[in-house]
Amino acid sequence: MRRMMAAMPALILDGKIAAAAVLTELRPAIRDLDPQLVVVQVGDDPASASYIRQKMQSCKQVGMRHRHEHLPADTSADTLFRLIESLNADDDVTGFILQLPLPAHLQESVPLFLRSIEPAKDVDGFTAYNLGKVFLSTEYEHLPPATPAGVLLLLDHYHIPVQGKHAVIVGHSNIVGKPLSVMLLNRNATVTTCHIYTQDLAAHTRMADILCVAVGKPGLITADMVKHDAVVVDIGITRTDAGLKGDVDFGAVQEKAAAITPVPGGVGPMTVASLIRNCVHAAQRQRSS
Ligand code: NAD
Repeated sequence: MRRMMAAMPALILDGKIAAAAVLTELRPAIRDLDPQLVVVQVGDDPASASYIRQKMQSCKQVGMRHRHEHLPADTSADTLFRLIESLNADDDVTGFILQLPLPAHLQESVPLFLRSIEPAKDVDGFTAYNLGKVFLSTEYEHLPPATPAGVLLLLDHYHIPVQGKHAVIVGHSNIVGKPLSVMLLNRNATVTTCHIYTQDLAAHTRMADILCVAVGKPGLITADMVKHDAVVVDIGITRTDAGLKGDVDFGAVQEKAAAITPVPGGVGPMTVASLIRNCVHAAQRQRSS
């Protein structure tokens, strides 16, 4: 992707438009399969409440059955395990997610809660089984983690090629940075993954044809860290007094990049769209098994 003039601002990769296109494509399968998504929330984390509202709204918009299981903040680990077991066993529930973070007293058991989710219903793609399959190849990305999958759907929507490009990922969490690195590798990008211990971060980010940032530190990526005509995908979301902020200095970087995602309105809606897409894929696989 080349721009005509150096001063031309970047193409905005609009996640609302791309997500609407993904949802429109899913409508016939949703009508046919009638899947149901359940979102489990424990406590009242305000960011979680806002993400859940967006998920419920998108389900409504696309005509997918959805349910919000909202448990009080003092819910015990046993109660949560029992709810997960009942959702695993309920044939009318296609897929469910455990909205993270959990309240402090449950947080250390998150790996155990995730492990108890039936992989066929793990539409967030967080279980070891579904993450492991992502490592094999694109053909096994049946229920990939929703955010990395959303990033790739966004690049696809704007016809941004990945094969042979140098993709630099900043952030190596199990739910975003690591699986995104692997999924880009599956698509034949050359991938560099950076994290908090990376020395000279800028030396890496300046090499990126595609720069994806998932850290949660507003302003971490400044214009001097970005190559001219790079594609910049800002996954970070931080709530500040001035509203939601990404990790990239959007104003300065958009003057230099070929394409860039806004925050909000970039990767966020794509995460929701790929969650719904996973639920449809789960329904298809459950029907055929
Ligand atoms: P995390 O806290 O699990 O991981 C943060 C990563 O950033 C780690 O790999 C860490 O090593 C790295 N890091 C921290 N400081 C760094 C630095 N100075 N330089 C380089 N790397 C550094 O977070 P996460 O769950 O992966 O989420 C990351 C961000 O993405 C958060 O802002 C989160 O809110 C956002 N997020 C957005 C969506 C979405 O739909 N847009 C979905 C999930 C997460």
